[in-house]
Amino acid sequence: MDFGFTEEQELLRDTARTFVERNCPPEKAKQWDDESYFPADVVAAMGDMGWFGLPFPEAWGGGGGGPIELAVLAEELSRASFDIGMLYIGTFIPGLALYDWGNEEQRARYQEGMLTGSQRFAVSISEPDAGSDLGAIRASAVRDGDHYVLNGTKMWCTGAGLPNCVIVMYVRTDPGSSRHNGLSVLIVDPSMDGVEIRRTPTLARHILGTNEIYLRDVHVPAENLVGPENQGWDVLMSNLELERTIISGSYVGAAQSTLDIAVAYAKEREQFGRKVGNFQAITHQLADLQVDIDSARLLTYRAAWLLAQGKPVAREASMAKLKGSETYVNVARWGMQIMAAYGFSTESVMSHRYRESIVAPISGGTSQIQRNAIARSMGLKGT
Ligand SMILES: Cc1cc2nc3c(=O)[nH]c(=O)nc-3n(C[C@H](O)[C@H](O)[C@H](O)COP(=O)(O)OP(=O)(O)OC[C@H]3O[C@@H](n4cnc5c(N)ncnc54)[C@H](O)[C@@H]3O)c2cc1C
Repeated sequence: MDFGFTEEQELLRDTARTFVERNCPPEKAKQWDDESYFPADVVAAMGDMGWFGLPFPEAWGGGGGGPIELAVLAEELSRASFDIGMLYIGTFIPGLALYDWGNEEQRARYQEGMLTGSQRFAVSISEPDAGSDLGAIRASAVRDGDHYVLNGTKMWCTGAGLPNCVIVMYVRTDPGSSRHNGLSVLIVDPSMDGVEIRRTPTLARHILGTNEIYLRDVHVPAENLVGPENQGWDVLMSNLELERTIISGSYVGAAQSTLDIAVAYAKEREQFGRKVGNFQAITHQLADLQVDIDSARLLTYRAAWLLAQGKPVAREASMAKLKGSETYVNVARWGMQIMAAYGFSTESVMSHRYRESIVAPISGGTSQIQRNAIARSMGLKGT
C-alpha cells in the first residue's frame, strides 16, 4: 500500500499552488464572483501551463495525465474557489466525452482548442423537468436531411455564455423512445439561429455562470452528432465516475482553503483576553473539520487510484462526491460561525465560500442521488 504521490505529482501540486497564489488568490476569486467576471487571462495562463492538454493522450499532443494528476490539479486550483477549479474541470470533462466518442473530423476540429483551452465546452443535460431524473429529457432533435432540427428548453448549463464555448448537448432523437433510450449528443454552437441563452441569477458560481437555453427550430448539422445516434446515454455514463472523482478533488481543495482561513482567523482574533482559537469549543471543531477534509481527500484519491487502475469505481466515486461536497458545506458553515460577524460581512471571503458551498451537494448529482448509488452497491433498493 502506498499513500504517496510521485515526484511529478508533487511538482504539479506545488506548481498549481503557486499558480493560485499568483494568479487567483481567494480574495480575487471572491471579487470576480461578486462582479460576475470571467478571468480570461487566468484561463489563458492555465493553457500556457499545458493543463488543458493534460487529460488527453500524448500521442494526440496532450499531457497523458491520469485521474490522480487531474484530481491533484482540481484540488489545488479550487483552493482559489470551487468556481475557479470548474473553469478548468468544467471544460475538459465534456471535451473528453467529445474526444472519446467523436469521430476523426470532430477531434481534428477541436484538437488545438482542447489542448490549449482556447475552445471552451459546456455540458447540457438538465431541463425544467429533468433534474436528477436524466431519463426525463424531452428536448427533441428531428433528423431532416443533413441536419437535426432542435426544439426544447435546457437548464443550468454552466459556462455556456462564455466566449468561444460550444455546448455538448443531450437531446432525444427517437421520438418514440422513453427514459434512457433514444438520446443522442449533439454539438451546439450558441451562435446558431434559434438558440437563446439566458443567464440564471444564482447565489454564487458567478465566474462561469449558469444558463437557460431556449431552442427554437435550431438547425444543427448532422456532422455534429457525437457517437452513435440514440446512444447518448452510453456517452453520458462513460465519464460520470471520472467527473464525480475529479469534482471531489475540487471540493477538498475549496474546503481546505476555507478551513485554513478559519484557522488563521482563530489564531488572530482575541476575546476575553485569549485567542478564540484557544477555546476548546473552537479547537475541537477545527480538528473535526480537518478530519472530515482528510476523509474526503482519502475517498477522492482512492477513487482516482481505482480509475487509474481501470477498476470498478461507481460506488467509490459516489462516496467521494458525497463526502467532498458535504464537507465543503460543513466547513463553510463552521467557518462562518468561527469568524462570526466578520464572516457574515459580504466583504469576507468566508461569505463567498458560504454561498458557493451550498450548491456542492446539489450540482453534479445531489447527495440523495449519491446515497442511492451507494445503497444500490450494498444490495439495497436505492431509489
Ligand atoms: C450551479 C449549478 C450548476 C449546474 N450545472 C449544470 C450543467 O452544467 N449542466 C447540466 O446539465 N446541469 C447542471 N446543473 C443541474 C444539476 O445537475 C441539477 O440541479 C441536479 O442534478 C439536481 O436536479 P434538480 O435541481 O432539478 O433537483 P431535483 O431532481 O428536482 O430534486 C429535488 C430534490 O429531490 C431529491 N431527489 C430527486 N430524486 C430523488 C431520488 N430518486 N431519491 C431521493 N431523492 C431524490 C433531490 O436530491 C433534491 O433534494 C447545475 C445546477 C446548479 C445549481
